[in-house]
Amino acid sequence: MRPAILDKLFAPITVLPGIGSQSAKLFERLAGPLVLDLLWHLPTGIVDRRASPPIRQLEADRIATLTVCVEGHQPGFGRRPYRVICSDKTGTLTLVYFNVKGDQLARLLPVGAERIVSGRVEFYGGMPQMAHPDLVLRPEEAERLKPIEPVYPLTAGLSPRLLQRAVAAALDQLPGLAEWIDPALRERRGWPLWGEAVHAVHAPASEGDLSPTTPARERLAYDEIFASQLAVALARARRHRQKGRAITGNGALTGRVEAALGFGLTGAQRLAIAEIAAEMRQPRRMVRLLQGDVGSGKTVVALIAMLTAIEGGGQAALMAPTEILARQHHATLQHHADAARVEIGFLTGREKGKVRASMLASLASGLTPAVVGTHALLQPDVEFRDLALVVIDEQHRFGVEQRLGLYAKGRDADTLLMSATPIPRTLMMTAYGDLDVSRLTEKPPGRHPVDTRTVALERIDDVVAAVGRAMSRRAKVYWICPMVEESETADLAAVEERHKTLAPIFPGRVGLVHGRMKPADKDRAMAGFAGGELDLLVATTVIEVGVDVPEAAVMVIEHAERFGLAQLHQLRGRIGRGDKPSTCLLLYASPLSELAKRRLGILRETEDGFRIAEEDLRLRGAGEVLGTRQSGLPPLRLADLAAHEELVAIAHDDARLVLERDPHLESQRGQALRALLYLFRRDEAVQYLRAG
Ligand code: ADP
Ligand code: MG
Repeated sequence: MRPAILDKLFAPITVLPGIGSQSAKLFERLAGPLVLDLLWHLPTGIVDRRASPPIRQLEADRIATLTVCVEGHQPGFGRRPYRVICSDKTGTLTLVYFNVKGDQLARLLPVGAERIVSGRVEFYGGMPQMAHPDLVLRPEEAERLKPIEPVYPLTAGLSPRLLQRAVAAALDQLPGLAEWIDPALRERRGWPLWGEAVHAVHAPASEGDLSPTTPARERLAYDEIFASQLAVALARARRHRQKGRAITGNGALTGRVEAALGFGLTGAQRLAIAEIAAEMRQPRRMVRLLQGDVGSGKTVVALIAMLTAIEGGGQAALMAPTEILARQHHATLQHHADAARVEIGFLTGREKGKVRASMLASLASGLTPAVVGTHALLQPDVEFRDLALVVIDEQHRFGVEQRLGLYAKGRDADTLLMSATPIPRTLMMTAYGDLDVSRLTEKPPGRHPVDTRTVALERIDDVVAAVGRAMSRRAKVYWICPMVEESETADLAAVEERHKTLAPIFPGRVGLVHGRMKPADKDRAMAGFAGGELDLLVATTVIEVGVDVPEAAVMVIEHAERFGLAQLHQLRGRIGRGDKPSTCLLLYASPLSELAKRRLGILRETEDGFRIAEEDLRLRGAGEVLGTRQSGLPPLRLADLAAHEELVAIAHDDARLVLERDPHLESQRGQALRALLYLFRRDEAVQYLRAG
C-alpha cells in the first residue's frame, strides 16, 4: 500500500483551488492528472519584473513594472482597440486591450485610481504602450507581485497565470518526507532536502537557476534516477531468487569444437564464456546480456553456451530476427559444431510439410539437440524434449513476450540475450539494470581499420568509378540505399533504380536485396554475393546485422544523412572483416544539417561502437537510442541522462548497497525509499518486496 503521507500528492489535480473539470483536461494534457504531476512540471524560463523605470525612461520590448495613475478611457470601436491612458510624473503610458469589455476595464482601472501595472512595453507612434498587461494590481496588493516569475511550458487554453497558481497550490500540498538519500552523499553534493528542492525549482531567481545542474534540480534528478535504479536492483534481486536449473558442462563437446575453430578465442570471448558457464551452473535463472560490437565474435560465445547446455543433457535454441540471419547463424554454428558431431536443426516460416514435421518431431524427441530459427520457433506446435538454454540474437528486435515465449517452451531454461548495439554504460544501467551483462570489448585480431569518407552525392560518377577499381582488385562491394518506413514504395523504387543503373556498368556481377523480395530471391542474391557470382550488392538495411562476407571491403551508403549514427555504425560493421583494407563512402545530399554533419563526422573519427553510442546518446537522447518501443522505459521527467550521466553510476551503486544491507527495505531509510519508489511510480518494484 502506498504510504498515506503521499495521498495529497496522488490526489487528482481537481482538488486544487481554481482547477475545474474544464481546465483539468488541459492540465492533464500538459503535465498529468495528479497533483504530483504539476510538481514535476518544471519552469523553462523566467520573467524578470524588477525593472521599474519612470515612464519617460521606458525601453521597447522590455518587461517593466510601474505605478501609474489612471487618467481616462477611450473605448474601442471597429478594429480600434480599447485604450486606457495612464501617467506618472514623467509621462503617459497607454494600456491597450483588444476584445475586452469596457465595463470590466472600468472596474479594473477606475479613472483617478492608482494602479501597479506590469508587462511588456512597446512603442506606437513614438508613445510607450503596454498591450494586455500581465498584471494590474491595487497598491495594497503590491505584495502579490513576484519580482521574478517562473515561466512554464504551456498548452493552448491555459494562461501562464493559471498555471502558476496551480503549481503554487500544488506546492502547498507538499508533505514532509523522510530523507532517502544517503546523508554523506547529500552533504558532499550540497543538495537541499526534498521539500526545499521542490520549492526551489519552482522559484528560479535567474536564468542560471534553470540549469539541470543546480543543486535543487540535480537532487530531484538524482531522486528519479535513484528510484529507477532501486527498481531495477529489486527486479534483479527477485530474479536471482527465482528457481532455475543448474547446468554443468563436461567439456566433451566444447573442447572438440574449440580445438577445431581455426582461431584462438580472444580474452574477451574467454571471459564471457566463463561468466556464462558460471552462471549456468547456478541453480537460479540466468538472464544475461551478451553485448558486443558487430564482428566482436558473439556467435562463437553463443555456440559454446549452447554446447554446454547440450553437455548438461538439455537442448538449446537460438532465435534470430530475420531469415537471412538465422540461415547464416545456422551455417556458422553447424560448420563449427561438426567437429563434435552435433546436429543443429533449422526452422523458419519457410519450412513446410514433411521437412517441418520431421524437424518438429526430432526437437520434441530430443534427437536434435539444438535449433536455430526465426519467430517460427514460437509457434505452438514447436516443442522440445528439454530446452535448457534460449539464445536470442539481436534481442532488441524481439518483444518481451516473444523472448518469454521461447523461454516458456523450456524447463526453467537459462536465457542468453545478444546485442550488437553497444549501449552506453549509463543507459545500460537504466534500461537493463536488472540484467547481468557480459561485454565483448575486444575484437578478434587482424582487423584493418575502415577508411571512412564523406562524399557529396553529386560526385556519384567518381564513386562508381572507384567501386569499379575496387572490384577489379577482387573486393566485394555493398551499396546501401535508405529505406524509410514512411515512404517505403518510393524508397523501393530508389533501390531498384540504383540497381538498374549499376547493373549494365558491371554486367552479371550486381545483385539486389530488399525487404519486399520473395525470401527465395533474397537468399539467392545473398548467397550469390557471399559466394563467387556477385561482387556488388545493392541493398537496403536488410543486411544491417549479422551478415558476414569477409571479402566485402567497400561499402557505399547513399543518403547517409538519413541514417542514425548507430545504424551507420552497424552497417559499416559489415565490412573490414577480412584481411584487406576497406573503405566506407558516405554519400550525402547537400546541404547537410548541423546534426547530420556531426553524425558523419563522428563516424569518420572512430570505429569504437561504445564511443559512437555515447555520442549518439548525446545527440539524440535516451528514448531514441533505445527506440521507445523496445526500451519499455518509463520516461524520465526530471533527469536528463546526458546532463546527469554521472548520477546514474552513483545511484546504481547506492541502490545495490542499500539492498545488500536491507533487502526488504524495512529500516528507517528503507521506509523512506519505499515512498521514493511510489513517488516516481516504480510501485511495481514494491510488489517484488512483498513477493519475498
Ligand atoms: P558478431 O556476431 O559479434 O558480429 P561474429 O560472431 O559473426 O561477430 O564474428 C565475426 C567474425 O569473426 C566471424 O567470421 C568469426 O568467425 C570471426 N571470429 C570470431 N571470433 C574470432 C577470434 N577469436 N579470432 C578470429 N576470428 C574470430
Ligand atoms: Mg552476430
